[in-house]
Formats: sequence, structure tokens, C-alpha cells
Amino acid sequence: MDAVRLLGDIIAQNAPVSAAPLRTLQAFHALTDGGYIEEAGVVQSIHCNDCDVPHDAAVVFEATQYGIHCPDLGFISKERSELVAVKPNLERLVQNVADALGCKRTKSTPIHGQIWRIGIVTAPSVDVAVYFQPTLCDALDLRSFETALSNETRSQYGIILTASGQLSCPPLKTVQIEDCLAFDEVAMVFEFAGDLLAIAGAPEKNRGGRPSLYAAKLAKIIAARVASGEALPGKNAEARAIQTIYRTENPTEKPPSISTVKNAIS
Ligand SMILES: [Zn+2]
Repeated sequence: MDAVRLLGDIIAQNAPVSAAPLRTLQAFHALTDGGYIEEAGVVQSIHCNDCDVPHDAAVVFEATQYGIHCPDLGFISKERSELVAVKPNLERLVQNVADALGCKRTKSTPIHGQIWRIGIVTAPSVDVAVYFQPTLCDALDLRSFETALSNETRSQYGIILTASGQLSCPPLKTVQIEDCLAFDEVAMVFEFAGDLLAIAGAPEKNRGGRPSLYAAKLAKIIAARVASGEALPGKNAEARAIQTIYRTENPTEKPPSISTVKNAIS
């Protein structure tokens, strides 16, 4: 599973999740190493698979041992590593996205509940406000966001990044992290892989002007991969593959960001 997808799934739970079933996933280790998920004690209950009638059982700590009480088998001891829970480190994610977008006015603590102002992106034509809320699934989520916004300077253009849900708070646009972030497995950071102004519905006039430093080299790699049939169907995956080739071919250069590569592909 992709790191963005896994982080989104964990955020959307709104509660610590068991680490044990995730340890087989490479993305889990990438997220842990990058500081995007962190330990949150032990889970409160687990599923007992040791008896004939599987059931949920509360995790208890007795004498020196973690375990559960099974009606059939009595006390069953469990290793702490089987019970570890993890939660997302939202502060780390918010700071990462703020850096990726070059945001100003980033706030390092939530503005309300679990809602964060990632910051303001100053584009040539307009300013775009960027917020994060774990989920935008129901009326309660929406009310929380409206409360958070009541103390903010209103922006004409802005986006709300979320892990789950499609509700929006006009004029701000809601976007799933899965649709706009890409994980750079070498640098261990998320790139903003979408077109921020387009997502926010902001005017794009006066954009650009400076030809991309990477354009010629990228065009060559992209064309070669299309010609040889190596180009991958997914745009994120292909952008990552191209970025890796770029890095290999130009080891002394800072490679283009995933969003730059994606723009070059389209
Ligand atoms: Zn049992």
C-alpha cells in the first residue's frame, strides 16, 4: 500500500490503531521512519483468535505481563509488541505540507480541535489559504470547521486537506490527501503533487514566466520511457520513477519535485 493511502487510512480512524497488522507493509515503516506516525501506548482491546469462539477482549496488565482474559482459556499472555498502537503525527504532516507549498503564516498548533492552518500560499495572482482537517464526513465535522474558521482572516480562495470525506465549506475547496500528496521515499517527505491554484479554483493569470530548469532533461526521460513502453499507467508512480532516473542521471543536482515532474508528464 502507498504511504499516502496508509497515512490517510490511519488519520481517518480518528483513534489509535493497532500496529501489528501494519508491520508487513513497507509504507508503515516509511511513515514511522519519517515521523508521520508514532507510538500511542497499547490498544485497549484485541480480537481473541486462540479459542473456538473468537471474541473481543480487553487488554489487561497483570503482574508483569500484558494479556487478555478468554472465557475458555483464561489468561493468555501477549507480547507488548503485539499490542502497540500508533497514531498520526499531524503536526509533522502539517509542517511537511507547509514546507512543500512554501506556506507563510503556518500555525504549529491546531486552530481548533484537530483543525490546522497549514498556511497561506502567496501566488503571483492571489493568496490561497490551506487548512487541514482529519475528516470532513458529517455535519459535526463541518460545524467544527466553521467554528475554526470564525477566528480566521477570511480568504477568497483556499483548500481543506482531509483524509476522508467530501464535505466542503465554500468558497474553500475540499481535497483528499490521497489526491494531492505523493511520498518521496528517498527524502522521506510528502510532495504536494497537485495544482494548488486549480484545486482552489483560483485564477491562474500571471503564473510561471520562468522556463523550468528541468524541462529539457525531463522531456528526454519522459519521451524515452514512452518510446520503450516502460512508462507506468499511474501518474504518481510514473512521476516517482522519472524522478529516480533523474536523480541517477544527475547525481549532483537537486532533482525536480514530484509536482514538477507530474506537470511535465501531462
Ligand atoms: Zn478466546
